[in-house]
Amino acid sequence: MTYDVQRVREDFPILRQTVHGRPLVYLDNAATAQKPQSVIDTLVRYYTEENANIHRGVHLLSQRATQEYEDARAKVQRFLNAASTEEIVFVRGATEGINLVAQTYGRRHVGPGDEVVISAMEHHSNIVPWQMLCEEKGARLRVVPINDDGEILLDEYEKLLGPKTKFVSLVHVSNALGTINPVGEMIEMAHRRGVPVLVDGAQSVPHLGVDVRALDCDFFVFSGHKLYGPTGIGVLYGKRALLKAMPPWQGGGDMISSVTFEKTTYNTLPYKFEAGTPNIAGGIGLGAAIDYVNGLGVDAIAAHEHELLEYGTRELSKVPGLRLIGTARHKAGVLSFVLEGVHPHDIGTILDEEGVAIRTGHHCVQPVMQRFGIPATARASLGCYNTREEIDALTRALDRVAEVFG
Ligand code: PMP
Repeated sequence: MTYDVQRVREDFPILRQTVHGRPLVYLDNAATAQKPQSVIDTLVRYYTEENANIHRGVHLLSQRATQEYEDARAKVQRFLNAASTEEIVFVRGATEGINLVAQTYGRRHVGPGDEVVISAMEHHSNIVPWQMLCEEKGARLRVVPINDDGEILLDEYEKLLGPKTKFVSLVHVSNALGTINPVGEMIEMAHRRGVPVLVDGAQSVPHLGVDVRALDCDFFVFSGHKLYGPTGIGVLYGKRALLKAMPPWQGGGDMISSVTFEKTTYNTLPYKFEAGTPNIAGGIGLGAAIDYVNGLGVDAIAAHEHELLEYGTRELSKVPGLRLIGTARHKAGVLSFVLEGVHPHDIGTILDEEGVAIRTGHHCVQPVMQRFGIPATARASLGCYNTREEIDALTRALDRVAEVFG
């Protein structure tokens, strides 16, 4: 079956609008993706017909809400090919997932003089939690360098792994450069030394098929809102044995088995890590988003976006004075660029007037900007509903930038 992008677009009501009198061209998917009608309907239905607190209620609504929330967890488990729903912890997003691991596993296993290894293309959310941990423990953050195309230098990575390495945390797909990192190989290299690895899948889950067991990662995080689901919900996957041995993070309701003033015993997995009333609607909405993505087929989405990426790379390369930042051999749908003599924010503003929504700035990866010697980039990022015509609209709008600044 061929991928019918026009049919896909009909599923996203927000795309029907005009901005500044022009059809909306939404190319900011790496920041957040739009939501299909089925996800919106699920949220409306939940609040209209089912809203109740979960896990503790005997009444019908509570049981229904609990069932749907737990069904969503099972959908995530199958989507990632995790071994069990015990390994799927609902969190606020990728950021919270990483902080949870740093504050529990990290605090227990990283001590003075130890080292945590990350790459030079990490999102701030995969830098700062480790920096905070290292500061607290007197440990050291080591950073694997990248080349001018935005690819990790594997030989340098190998050199950094040593007896002091206690943890590795790596981004699967870079939000600023689009690079798809060889995380499978990098996990294997760390495991040979007995070092566990967290994979930040915020940008990989929406664009590649992810199989946590095939990758053999120890932890994996992603955010629902980049996968066509709601904001405020995300997932931490962790291998059961690791999660089981980890101390809880936040204390409160639902994460306990019994409480007295003398002693509290903790709930079983995954609830040990889910203190308080969770984002119930968000979890159920994420389940609907996974259904939607599965309906299109992750491989079909990936192939569509890859074709667009190649087209976009060709077309953007023809724009005078444009330099692509991030030219790795293996890339997902991110086109980051700078234009000679024009500040990225000015590009973004003029593009917006033309109805084209892109992101400009440092994309929460300031060290990558420093690595390339630039303050910021303009970034177009692709999703399942983007078209060649939208890439053409982008390049036309860039011609307009050249007219204004030429
Ligand atoms: N990692 C990467 C690679 C990202 O692109 C993002 C979001 N831009 C995050 C982590 C953080 O995701 P969130 O803000 O949804 O927690």
